[in-house]
Amino acid sequence: MFCIQDTINNVMKIRFNLGNSKTEAMANCVDSTSTPSEEELGLFSQSEAVEGDDEREEDSSDSNVSTPKFLRKRVGFSDGTSSILDPPPFDVSDDEDENGLDLLANTKKAVNQAEELVRRVWQRGWQVVHHSHLPKWLQDNNFLVGGHRPPLRSFLACFKSIFRIHTETGNIWTHLLGCVAFIGVTVSFLSRPSLEIQWQEKAVFSTFFIGAILCMLFSFLFHTVYCHSEAVGKFFNKLDYCGIALLTMGSFVPWLYYSFYCTTAPKISYMALIFILGTACIVVSMWDKFAEPQFRPIRAGTFIALGLSGVIPAMHYVITEGIDRAINVAAMGWLVLMALLYIGGALIYAFRIPERLWPGKFDIWFQSHQIFHVFVVAAAFVHYHGISQIANHRLTFGNCLEADQNGNLIVK
Ligand SMILES: [Zn+2]
Repeated sequence: MFCIQDTINNVMKIRFNLGNSKTEAMANCVDSTSTPSEEELGLFSQSEAVEGDDEREEDSSDSNVSTPKFLRKRVGFSDGTSSILDPPPFDVSDDEDENGLDLLANTKKAVNQAEELVRRVWQRGWQVVHHSHLPKWLQDNNFLVGGHRPPLRSFLACFKSIFRIHTETGNIWTHLLGCVAFIGVTVSFLSRPSLEIQWQEKAVFSTFFIGAILCMLFSFLFHTVYCHSEAVGKFFNKLDYCGIALLTMGSFVPWLYYSFYCTTAPKISYMALIFILGTACIVVSMWDKFAEPQFRPIRAGTFIALGLSGVIPAMHYVITEGIDRAINVAAMGWLVLMALLYIGGALIYAFRIPERLWPGKFDIWFQSHQIFHVFVVAAAFVHYHGISQIANHRLTFGNCLEADQNGNLIVK
């Protein structure tokens, strides 16, 4: 395994053996308490490492042994196998001939190069890689050609990667900002005085807020730590799918609650239906194969079906209350717009448009997954607006309506 600490120590030893005055300074520099670990640097074992771009390959081939090859060669180690910790095979304090001076100069040059190498690896940590250089478990979308993070093996390195540009940067930030925005909306809604918004309304709206926040939080976490390792990626991928199901379930509750405010039986039945379907989606998401690339259309289809199950109560409302009330009272227009955004986003995700049409052109920005994320955030805000309208209308009227002898609706 490549070890930055070994390389630094070896450079120190060489310097010491040559009587270089910088030894003390280097000793301070490599104090174990101030040296970042491999984990922090995001480095990974050679056997598991993916090959990077040319620069990375050059670095790793130079640096994956304790003693860089060029260093051994230049100090004249005969077979290249003796440890760099051994005393040098010449006496620098004896009379030095020209060759000896050359050797000393070359050795110092080699040490400087090794120091430069350590400094560069230390500063950089990792570089983005080509899709073909990713391990199989990270090869999700082959239309994104370059700009991928390699496996980082450290949560700290994964979270630091939020601030670097790669294929997941847009996915991370779209849902991180969406999550923060919904936390803001939730805090402002729940902190309103109870005279203005009663606790029942706060409880009903909270199911939607919790669904939206968890969905975007899980998604943000998944895209951030996806490259940690196969096991971590799989776990957070499942959490991501659970988040979508939770958002869908949470979105249905206030809509059904206010749309069927005065009719308990359909309200309870539809809530039970969405709860069962949502739970089924979560159970299916736990299945390992569900996350594999070939199941992408099945995944999209499952969640579209979960969302479209809302067509049944919507049709029920239109038939019993009429299209006018559906649009003006139940904010059906906003709900249809929300459904179109979700379905549109899911289709873009399933067909991987636009990167399928121009592979390699949308590696960093405007890839299908980012568009899908933006559509999810937009749909959640449209839904919030829609259910606010339904709730306002319901609470303005105060009580349930019923028909009089002439069939006119009156406030009960
Ligand atoms: Zn996502």
